[in-house]
Amino acid sequence: MSEKGCVILVGAGPGDPGLLTRKGLEALSQAEVVVYDRLVSREILELIPAEARRIDVGKTAGRHPIPQPEINRILLEEAQAGHRVVRLKGGDCFLFGRGGEELELLVQNGIPFQVVPGVTSALAVPAYGGIPVTHRDFCSSVHIITGHKRADGALSLDYEALVRLHGTLVFLMSVSSMGEICRGLIAAGMDENTPAAVIERGTTPAQRKVLAPLSGIEKEAAAAAVSPPAILVVGPVCSLSEELDWFDRLPLKGLRVLLTRDEGAQKRLVPVLEQLGAQVFSAPMIRTVFRDFDPEVLKEPGPVIFTSAAGVEAFQRVLWSQGLDARSLAGKTFAAVGKGTAAALEAMGIRADFIPRVYNGLEMARQMVEEGFLRPGDSPLLLRGNLASRELPKVLEEGGIPCREVVVYDTLPLTPEELPPEFDAAVFTSASCVRSLEKALPEGALTGKTALCIGPRTAEAAREAGMNIQMAEEASADSLITLVKGMTL
Ligand code: SAH
Repeated sequence: MSEKGCVILVGAGPGDPGLLTRKGLEALSQAEVVVYDRLVSREILELIPAEARRIDVGKTAGRHPIPQPEINRILLEEAQAGHRVVRLKGGDCFLFGRGGEELELLVQNGIPFQVVPGVTSALAVPAYGGIPVTHRDFCSSVHIITGHKRADGALSLDYEALVRLHGTLVFLMSVSSMGEICRGLIAAGMDENTPAAVIERGTTPAQRKVLAPLSGIEKEAAAAAVSPPAILVVGPVCSLSEELDWFDRLPLKGLRVLLTRDEGAQKRLVPVLEQLGAQVFSAPMIRTVFRDFDPEVLKEPGPVIFTSAAGVEAFQRVLWSQGLDARSLAGKTFAAVGKGTAAALEAMGIRADFIPRVYNGLEMARQMVEEGFLRPGDSPLLLRGNLASRELPKVLEEGGIPCREVVVYDTLPLTPEELPPEFDAAVFTSASCVRSLEKALPEGALTGKTALCIGPRTAEAAREAGMNIQMAEEASADSLITLVKGMTL
């Protein structure tokens, strides 16, 4: 790299990936090295470019996180090596984030840096818990305080001063010091009935909230086994929390939904699901490895049949590797098994001449003949995956139209690193995805989970895997969106 190295300090927000700023996302997408903490959510880590090197400094080696001087040194050395380094921190990077300390060494060494502030948990987590941190009827200030104890175990807070402020108090890092804080405030004169709230893993689908008066909040939080990260909010504004809660009431709140990574049509589902409160993961369900097939087959006359979008991709790869494009296919006709496959063809500038109304091998074969897409004497080319059903070529052959079949890609088992995290529901757009996932997971892992399926064949495979089926009315992304919108828990 010719440019000089630099460090961009980025606040990743409190967890909800939608709360990462546009500027933060931009910095992340250009990063060569990303140094991140424990608090940065998985969804945000997924935005790191695949080529970028990741350095996890939140990992506890033994039980100790990487010491701060060591982190400072890593940032300096990576930048000195000429890399574009993003230092990603939970929430805002300066609020109890040691961002300032990390920059000092860079300044001393003349390393250029920038700071991209983040949405802090101190304000966003109460908002997701239905707590406006200020309200004209209740208070006119908000104060953010650390509940972190010093190494000697002491928590040096001026409780009298805090009580005198009459503002909303937001305590970060306060799970283990909660009792001490509450007692300190009461001893300094705060009404023990002051409403308080503890919010754990705020802004994420795992968010939990405990509400109680100041005198009882520690006990309630302990009973709920609240653990970090969590914030304690103290002040009359907490009394609005139930009425103004919106996050917990989202229809799909807490539902963990798995989508197939890299599946264009499914990407449109992400914002829909997230707005309904679901947590969306995308993981590969299938591993496709393209084969290099003999491009000569493309020169032969006759219609071309595709039974998957991956087949279209394999076809395009070979075409392009030959220095050709859609112009070389003038005069050819194309059949696509469904809208997704047709869309893949369209993306390369080709309109499908034939799409069956309903897909199964028998139907597609029958319709292709009936509607004149195939004629006796044709020798269609079928470009398919190694696992594709053989029903279609069999039916055509029996009808006197033998296909030339070429396997253009292989579907291989998922590797352990590709396995998805725990989920409650999965969206499937092909039966082979269901089977591939079933094979990759421990036996019975899909049983009882919900399958949102694009069509009957996919649904059949999911049913065989023991899943509860919900099926789109029509095999299309729009129809899947309608299905998801109508889902309830
Ligand atoms: N810079 C961060 C705070 C770092 S200190 C920020 O601006 O948010 C770490 C503390 O932040 C945690 O102990 C917890 O009190 C709070 N915190 C961070 N993310 C949180 C979340 N999603 N839910 C609740 N508290 C959170």
